[in-house]
Amino acid sequence: MTCSHFAFWPARMPVTLAVPDTTLCDNLQVSARRYPDRTAIIYYDQVITYRALNNEVNRMAAYLMHLGVTKGDRVLIYMQNSPQFIISYYAILLCGGIVVPINPMNLTDELSFYIKDGSIKTGLVSQELYPRIEPLLAASCLERIILAAYADYCVNPSVDAPDFVKAPRLEVASPQVIPWMEAMQMAIDVQPSPEMAGSDLAVLPYTSGTTGEPKGCMHTHKSVQANVISAAFWGEVTPESIVLGTLPLFHVTGMIHGMHAPIYMGATIVMMTRWDRRTAAHFIETHKCTHWTGISTMIIDFLSNPQLAQYDLSSLIVLTGGGAGLPEAVGEKLYQVTGLRFVEGYGLSETMAQTHFNPLDRPKPQCLGVPSFDVDARIIDPITLEEKSPCEEGEIMLTGPQLFQGYWNNPTETKNAFVKIDGKLLFRTGDIGYCDEEGYFFIVDRVKRMINASGFKVWPSEVESILYKHPAIKEACVIGVPDKKKGEEVKAYVVLQEDKRGTVEADDIIRWAQQHMAAYKYPRQVEFVASLPVTGSGKILWRKLQEEARNKASLE
Ligand code: AMP
Repeated sequence: MTCSHFAFWPARMPVTLAVPDTTLCDNLQVSARRYPDRTAIIYYDQVITYRALNNEVNRMAAYLMHLGVTKGDRVLIYMQNSPQFIISYYAILLCGGIVVPINPMNLTDELSFYIKDGSIKTGLVSQELYPRIEPLLAASCLERIILAAYADYCVNPSVDAPDFVKAPRLEVASPQVIPWMEAMQMAIDVQPSPEMAGSDLAVLPYTSGTTGEPKGCMHTHKSVQANVISAAFWGEVTPESIVLGTLPLFHVTGMIHGMHAPIYMGATIVMMTRWDRRTAAHFIETHKCTHWTGISTMIIDFLSNPQLAQYDLSSLIVLTGGGAGLPEAVGEKLYQVTGLRFVEGYGLSETMAQTHFNPLDRPKPQCLGVPSFDVDARIIDPITLEEKSPCEEGEIMLTGPQLFQGYWNNPTETKNAFVKIDGKLLFRTGDIGYCDEEGYFFIVDRVKRMINASGFKVWPSEVESILYKHPAIKEACVIGVPDKKKGEEVKAYVVLQEDKRGTVEADDIIRWAQQHMAAYKYPRQVEFVASLPVTGSGKILWRKLQEEARNKASLE
């Protein structure tokens, strides 16, 4: 069954959308012309209007051009959520550059990979992350950093701001490090005006896809625009909307729902640099937030605030999310507390967030929703490539206007990610699911090796390759084990080198791993085993270990 058109689709929603050939830069410029004095961003104590945001973007873009950033250059953003993240993003685009947004949890080794993979010369970095990237100024192709302090846009932050937001500006005596404010002051007389079209590359969000090493998903302005517009339709975002931005902006869901869609509509973004349930409730009450896109772990944490009843949350009208399923009981509690349903969507980095969403007025719990505008999504047997009937399980394969162009510099993985069915190239999501009789999709498992820990995607092969650097580890296999709060947790089965047995504890390995990889990736559990199960050809049977762990958890 091809689930792309539905008789029951709410009448006000078209099933097809004409995606304009404009660029993301046009979105900001149009909003700045239409609503110059409207608030674009509220960041702790600061209010930034659309006029001011557009001016800041123009100034930073001019400075980047002055540095030599030109069409097609990849430029790194390594920052937490902040006004500078948004300014940097749109400024890079305005020079014709390609944004490479990096998870701020990544450490030096991980950063080194992205910089090399994207041949990146310029980075816009927030100061508390600087020590991690500093060694790469001498040891990689990275030539310069523009260093942002939160103090640049947050002069007198309120109590809600985390400590690093309140920190004074960091002075770095290096010609390769340019303070943000200096960049802004130097730039005013250069006007960026490269020829740009919707088909130009705009952003390279990294993912591991269904296999191995991280890969940059090549998205054009047009593939991003497709989801900017569909997100605005889905969430009924209007210029009056006040959007609470809690998801990280380096990830596609945060990017679309917490930045591009509100900017496209001329709405207000209430930014949080770091998730905190008390601040979220406080911001909803004080700024009268109407929209919030979260992830299940945030909702669970939000609801477990013992003081939640003291806050007036009545302004909230739309609560959407994705990236991981919300347990049904939590959804019910949310409904009792706020009167709102958590309206789930589904998508991937390769599809710039949502390819599916639940209609606001008829969501189903723990459901991915129905295919978004112009999306052709099918359930296909991953081996025979035959299409499944309604309610039968298979791999979710799809195509649509938000689909990426392929992986950066990786034609082999790009080729493997697609399959031709009925003359149409479909993207293999690596997710196993089914489509019910009404056309709603559900996810039940994955064919790909991925762990979904609180919505953070952990790629076992990447974790294993780092673990193999530990001198005591002979073999390692990383799997996801069920976890009530996070959905899944990272576990490593480890075979120690013979001469190291008895000399290291599991906790030593965990501590070491913590220092060598991003906080969401390192194994929280390590189990020593004498050997790992392998196939006849010597391949480690990770699925066997995973199933055993799942069975064990279901008995507990
Ligand atoms: P990413 O590329 O980081 O956005 O991760 C994409 C993956 O997240 C998908 O392939 C799914 O495995 C998972 N995912 C996305 N949305 C949902 C959802 N609503 N429920 C469960 N898993 C999801």
